[in-house]
Amino acid sequence: MNNALNFSGGPGALPAPVLRQARDAIAALPETGLSVLGMSHRSDWFRAVLDEAERNLRELLGIPDTHHVLFLQGGGSLQFAMVPMNFLRGSGRCAEYIVSGHWSAKAPPEARPEGETRIVWDGRADGCRRLPRPDELRLSPDAAYLHYVSNETVEGLEFSTVPGLPGVPLVCDMSSNLLAAPAAIGRYDLIYAHAQKNLGPSGVTVVIVSDEFSRRAPESLPAILDYRAHIAARSIYNTPPVFAIYVLMLVTRWLRDEIGGLEAMAAMNRAKAEAVHGALDANPGFYRVHAEPASRSAMNVAFRLPDTATEARLLDAARRDGFHGLEGHRSIGGLRVSLYNAVTLEAASALAAWLTEFGGRHG
Ligand SMILES: *Cc1c(COP(=O)(O)O)cnc(C)c1O
Repeated sequence: MNNALNFSGGPGALPAPVLRQARDAIAALPETGLSVLGMSHRSDWFRAVLDEAERNLRELLGIPDTHHVLFLQGGGSLQFAMVPMNFLRGSGRCAEYIVSGHWSAKAPPEARPEGETRIVWDGRADGCRRLPRPDELRLSPDAAYLHYVSNETVEGLEFSTVPGLPGVPLVCDMSSNLLAAPAAIGRYDLIYAHAQKNLGPSGVTVVIVSDEFSRRAPESLPAILDYRAHIAARSIYNTPPVFAIYVLMLVTRWLRDEIGGLEAMAAMNRAKAEAVHGALDANPGFYRVHAEPASRSAMNVAFRLPDTATEARLLDAARRDGFHGLEGHRSIGGLRVSLYNAVTLEAASALAAWLTEFGGRHG
């Protein structure tokens, strides 16, 4: 097994040095001599971990002081529900949703019990192969918020511009591309990203929310579902996922110290995506990329072969040669290469060469 050749869609690969530190921390943390799995979340050690994770995220992403950084549980799916509970319930306004793929389609049904919703663009009629152009979105200036997914993990579609109207709160699920490149954080009122695609292990979800927006929530919410309770408790409202947050902190350190920040990370991610797309595009009779070129993601490349039997053969052959995690999402089938931050350019190039060779033999 070569852990370096893990192209899984999620939970995704983590950097080798982070995995080594996590392994050592399970035996005993260098700072405390105790296993990370037995550390109190009320300890000074854990407060320092949370503080560093937040500080590193603020530095890497340029998060403005107007925004809080929270570490929550429940994944992306809880955010689909928690956002409308806090910002649609009782607002008397309509919440707007862009539906551009599998994950963004999961959000509006969770909002409907809380109030009026409107889908402002729906890519499903065309099989979710592209993202909307700004002129295709009919947005209203008095919406409660506009929600979208910046990277459609299943279909491999990534926004290259930020949609929305000035004055309308903007909410974004960045679960599969936060920290993959710089982002205009100040443009958003709320961003969420579970850790397991690009930030760390599953179990923790980063929420970046503006203070002003967080105050708009109704008073009727259970505290655990109210962003203000987590802000007041500085992410220790109840027992948080200590281990997952520790590993996320190590990933932010790795990005800062070993990668050199998000511009460098983005350049590397572009090179990885170009290598894989180049191999697929060179053999269009055999490989068919799901996304139209203008909407392609640097994180996930979904593609098909002429028939499912050949797809199964590719998966078998890839596994035998050490390439893992190439199955497409169960909702659309086919194949998918995920190129999260921890996937090296060497790994992506090796896979690209392997795909070229496989396509040459079978295409
Ligand atoms: C994987 C994924 C989700 C699902 O998150 P869970 O943590 O499993 O609830 C949501 N949004 C996006 C963009 C995803 O890629």
